[in-house]
Amino acid sequence: MALVDCANALLNDGICILPTETVYGLACSAFSAKAIRKVYQLKGRPSTNPLIVHVLDHSFAEEISVTNEYSRKLAKAFWPGPLTFILPKKKSIPDEITAGLNSVAIRSPSHPTFRKVLDQVQLPLAAPSANPSNKLSPTKFENVVAAFGKDCPPFIDGGQCDIGIESTVLNLTSTSPSILRLGPITKDAIEKVLGIQVGCERIILEQTGGTKARQSPGQGPKHYSPNTPLFLYSTMEQMLRSNAINEGDILILPCAKPPLFFPAKKIHQLYLSSTGHPKEITKNLFKILHDADKLKKKRIHVALFPLGDGLLSAVNDRLSRAATERF
Ligand code: AMP
Ligand code: MG
Repeated sequence: MALVDCANALLNDGICILPTETVYGLACSAFSAKAIRKVYQLKGRPSTNPLIVHVLDHSFAEEISVTNEYSRKLAKAFWPGPLTFILPKKKSIPDEITAGLNSVAIRSPSHPTFRKVLDQVQLPLAAPSANPSNKLSPTKFENVVAAFGKDCPPFIDGGQCDIGIESTVLNLTSTSPSILRLGPITKDAIEKVLGIQVGCERIILEQTGGTKARQSPGQGPKHYSPNTPLFLYSTMEQMLRSNAINEGDILILPCAKPPLFFPAKKIHQLYLSSTGHPKEITKNLFKILHDADKLKKKRIHVALFPLGDGLLSAVNDRLSRAATERF
């Protein structure tokens, strides 16, 4: 779809698929209750799970929300980029976007195509990930087409998304900011800019295996799931010792080195990266999970990454919520 057609559709209560630097988004005007309903319906998204609104910059955010010193500092440091703020909403934002909450989630994407569309329409655009609710996020437009089939809305192909996981969500509605969803912008990086400590609900989820009560809607323990059952191990050593790995299963590994051999068993091995670098692993996470699903095997096995790296904590968070069983 040409950019101009996409802009026209969005200006007329339409929806379309756009690339962002995080994952593909299912975009619509944030002011069109009609288009927002189409987005919820296509995704099968519960109406209790609010959407993120995308804007060109912080001055657009000021038009739809009550911004503050924290949002200004953080936008200066990280926008355009994968950091979403939760701020008190202004009246112009319909309740359909926020699931009736009086706060709204806002970010400014850096993907040039998405920015061109924002510039054309001069509207804030809601854009949740372009996947059926709770399924794997799409990082290539082929994933979107495969997921929605004949119902797939018009799209712009932007190749593989650079970052590969969803934005960090940061609650800025109180004087103590707290992270509601781990993502590409790490807790350390946010604290450095603000000069204060920030809370983090998601790290607790990761360490307790998803039993902690959630604060933000749509942040349930089960999310981002492949169709194939996913067995998640606390460490690589534990995974490699597991007797739950059977002939024909899939093993997802950080990289190809060192090579692993399973005598007398045919195990499919997929690699998240060629280098083991956290950015490459993050970029490929959903792509490899989609690839694993396509193989239609009985089980996927994967291990959590050791805690320490902020980006890999976000990868661990996605794996924790993709898991069918934990060891
Ligand atoms: P998605 O659009 O699928 O990437 O998900 C957006 C995430 O932002 C969801 O997990 C929502 O729970 C979260 N979110 C959106 N708006 C709000 C809000 N007003 N308060 C808290 N969380 C929000
Ligand atoms: Mg999503």
